[in-house]
This record gives sequence, structure tokens and C-alpha cells, in this order.
Amino acid sequence: MDVVEEVDIVEEVVRYTYRLRPGAAARAALDAEWNRCRFLWNEAVHQQRQGNRPTLCSLSKMLTAARAECTWLREGSQVAQQQMLRTYTMALQHSFKIKGRGRPAVKAKKKTSPSLEYTTRGFSVRGGRLNLPGKVTIPVVWSRDLPCEPTSVRVYRDSLGHWYASFVVRREMADIPEASASIGVDWGVATTATTTDPAYDLPHLGYRKRCAAELAKAQRKMARRRRPNGHTNSAGYVRAKRAAAKLHKKAARQNTHASRMWAKGVVDNHQVIAVEDFKPTFLAKSTMARKAADAAIGAAKRELVERGTRAGRKVVLVPPAYTTMTCSGCFARAKQRLGLGVRTFVCTTCGFSAGRDENAARVILATAERDRAGIEGVRHAITSLPGAGLCAA
Ligand SMILES: [Zn+2]
Repeated sequence: MDVVEEVDIVEEVVRYTYRLRPGAAARAALDAEWNRCRFLWNEAVHQQRQGNRPTLCSLSKMLTAARAECTWLREGSQVAQQQMLRTYTMALQHSFKIKGRGRPAVKAKKKTSPSLEYTTRGFSVRGGRLNLPGKVTIPVVWSRDLPCEPTSVRVYRDSLGHWYASFVVRREMADIPEASASIGVDWGVATTATTTDPAYDLPHLGYRKRCAAELAKAQRKMARRRRPNGHTNSAGYVRAKRAAAKLHKKAARQNTHASRMWAKGVVDNHQVIAVEDFKPTFLAKSTMARKAADAAIGAAKRELVERGTRAGRKVVLVPPAYTTMTCSGCFARAKQRLGLGVRTFVCTTCGFSAGRDENAARVILATAERDRAGIEGVRHAITSLPGAGLCAA
């Protein structure tokens, strides 16, 4: 996330994230800081709902006035509070500009996880520790070195209660080898990604399935310990719930890692990458929901598109309509949809036959190659192919 490209300097701005190990005092300080920032956010939401059209300028003025009056607000870091209002105004702007994005909502204490941002005025890294305002120092697990001095940091807690620091740094672009090959990618359930070159296929790794037995055990434990509605949950129930959540997270991380490794291989060796523009809701609504989630198609696609764009490759998103019905040999479109059980595509016009997904991958690549001339970056291709429908028998 938050990747900005700069072609001339060959530098990129990226995030480096590390696990934090805050002690009890630091955790309490972070929670208190979050509560103060949350108050400010909710106040801004309130202002907006009353029709006051809050801007960063007006909110900052109100923050200054409030800090002069309230001791408890003054106890917190001004940098974190200012950054919270900045994040709010960004969210508000996005809600007007980005389709489907709602207005910023109230952050309830029980439903949100802490997330605090500090600029260089508010934090420092000394002696391997992250120092925050209010004499808060937190040990960092340095899993790798920071490439340079960070310009800002976001300190956040995930759903498992683990704390992380995400530093924004500027680093030199890694050398990406020149490549001339093209590849088409079709997403599926049995094989997460089928490509035009079988060497780059991403098999379905089934991490979630592998820890399904453990997960089922944790869920049975939860069921045994569940109390009737209206009663607070027992400590044992909370423990079992946490164990289940941990297993889910583990599988998700393995999926992310696998898709990263795969995406790197594809991007390093191909100049043109044609990707099926898969919409996850399509499968999630059907009975294959579980498998589709498992296949982690979403994660792989995101990783591939992001890496490809960053490396300056031509990434073309091809709408999935008709890709399985079209022959990659003669581009005739079949009259009827291929059932999900049919794994081999056979063309009735020219007799070409190939694996269902392999044929789709080839169609996707052909669609992208046809109209890629002179167009940079991620773009959407048109589905109709030359000759499609002409020789459909
Ligand atoms: Zn054909």
C-alpha cells in the first residue's frame, strides 16, 4: 500500500512494517492516546453530520482551542492528534470522489483497533527502540534493516492484539531484469492461477484446508464454552475464539507469502501481463465460497497488479466475460456457456482443444495483445475479439 512511483530518480516510497513488543505501561499509553484521537475523529464526524463541512484548517483551529482548554487532551501528543484529523479529512474527501466509499463513521471503542500516525516531529528510532511522545519507548523486532531514515510511522494493533510499526521510507528501486515475454492469467479454484506458460501456474495450496482440523477443534471448543445470549463470555470462550482467529491469520499470511513469491516470478520474466479482472463477489456468492476464499485469488491478483505496475510492466485487466467460451485458436465464440464441470474446451469451428483454464488464459492474453499499442500502465481491455461471433457454429 501507499506506493508512489518516481521514474526519474528511480526511487520509490514504500512501507516497512515491524512487530512491536510494547510493555504494559506502553500499551496503556498507546490505548490512552488512541482514545483521545478517537474522540477527535468522532467530534469531526459529528461536525460533518451537522452540516458544518469541516476542513483540515477549521478542525486544526478547533484542536488548538480544545487543547488550550482541556488538560486531558493536552496530555496527548499534538502530532498524533493532528495526523488523526488529517486522516479524517482525507477520508472525507475520498467519500466524495471515490464511488462506493461512505462518509467517515464514528469509531466505536469496542469495534475499532488503535491506529496512530506520527511524523518526524513526533517519533524517533534510537537504540533499536521506537520512541513516541510522552516518554513511551517500545522495543521493535527488527526483522530486516530500514533502508534509510523513515519519514513517518503508523503504530497499529491488529485483531489479535499484536502491535506493529509501519515506517514510510524512500528506497532505491530494485533492478528488474529486462523481459520481452507476455503472459495471460486466468483465475480458478482448482488451480489458483492458470497461465499461458504452465511453468508459471500457481497451484491451489490449500493452507486453510491444511489447518482446517485444528480450526475445527478450536471451533468445537468455542461451541462448548458458549454461554446463552445476554451473558458475558467466559475467559475460556475468549481464549478459544482467539485460537481460532490465530489459525485464520496464519493461513492468510501463508497465502499472502505464496502469492508474493509467485507474483515476483511472473513480473521478473514478463513485459506484458494480461490478467483476468476477477470480481471476488462472483464466487463468494456461490456455493464455492469457501474454496474461493481459500484459493486467495484476491490476494494473488492484488499482488500481481501492484508488483507489475511498480516494475513498469504493462498490466492489462481483461473483463472475464466470454473468455471461457471463446476459442483461443480461431477466436470463434461458442453459443453456449461451458458448464463448470467441463474441464476441457473443444472448439466446434476449428476443432482446437485445450484445458478449460489454459484456453481462457490464452484468450485473455490475445485480448490484451490486440489493443495494447501505445497505452501505458493498468487499463481495461474490450472483451469482443476480432471475428468473435462470425464463425460461431
Ligand atoms: Zn476454434
